[in-house]
Amino acid sequence: MRRISYNNIINSIKDSVIEINCIASPELLNKYNLAINDEDNELSKKVLESLKENALIAKKKIIPICQDTGTAVLFLEMGTDIVIDGGFIYDAIYEGVRLGYKEGYLRKSIVDNPISRKNTGNNLPPIIHTKLVEGDSLKIIVLAKGAGSENMSAIKMMAPSDGIEGIEKFVLETVKNAGSNPCPPITVGVGIGSNFEGVALLAKKALIKNLFDIPEDSNIRVIELDLKNKLNGLNIGPQGFGGKTSVFDVAILMEPCHIASLPVAVNINCHVIRHKEIIF
Ligand code: SF4
Repeated sequence: MRRISYNNIINSIKDSVIEINCIASPELLNKYNLAINDEDNELSKKVLESLKENALIAKKKIIPICQDTGTAVLFLEMGTDIVIDGGFIYDAIYEGVRLGYKEGYLRKSIVDNPISRKNTGNNLPPIIHTKLVEGDSLKIIVLAKGAGSENMSAIKMMAPSDGIEGIEKFVLETVKNAGSNPCPPITVGVGIGSNFEGVALLAKKALIKNLFDIPEDSNIRVIELDLKNKLNGLNIGPQGFGGKTSVFDVAILMEPCHIASLPVAVNINCHVIRHKEIIF
């Protein structure tokens, strides 16, 4: 059994929460640069330059890139041969999230009850997805997920006969209806298969597909690039100002499903891509 320190998990989560909210990753800065070079619409190019400048100021001053510092979403891949030394792993995660939002001066965005809506005051609870794996490793992926893009996400239980044409139509409609609301350029995560609850999780995982051990599938990549081209043809553009940079990328994840079902979910992420992988 490998022992992993409870306090080490708290500190790593705390630091990650602050880092992803304030320090734009090289991946995000690269996406801005590519989009700035690619965009023909002068106004939209200026918008992209402003988004990049905003991210660079945030990085320099260690302040949030956006005022909506999000719901903390965590994916755990937990080896069966580890022991958390000093406490229960979910308590460590809660404490890491609480400290990160407190010490990073990040906005607390969670209400205790969706109807009466009192702010919990500490951005708790986070949303945690746990998968048990063989071995003595522990991987935690931390996301800060803003509401503007989450609110524009959608799920549909389609008929199997709808096929790939029906799936593409649904993705296009969802992004078109979202317009400027999810703060484009967006990343579009598409889940296909599983069942009602499973497909929503697939779409969320698709947004960070590169962090899971998923082999590249050239057939799926063709569909992703085709969808990306079609979505960029919608002329939504950065922050809705028009142009061809509506979408940074499209990522699809698929799983088996029932013979009578074709579940499809679209989870949207805004231009502020905020996630980090921690390996213990
Ligand atoms: S969708 Fe993203 S950029 Fe827009 S307000 Fe929310 S977190 Fe900020």
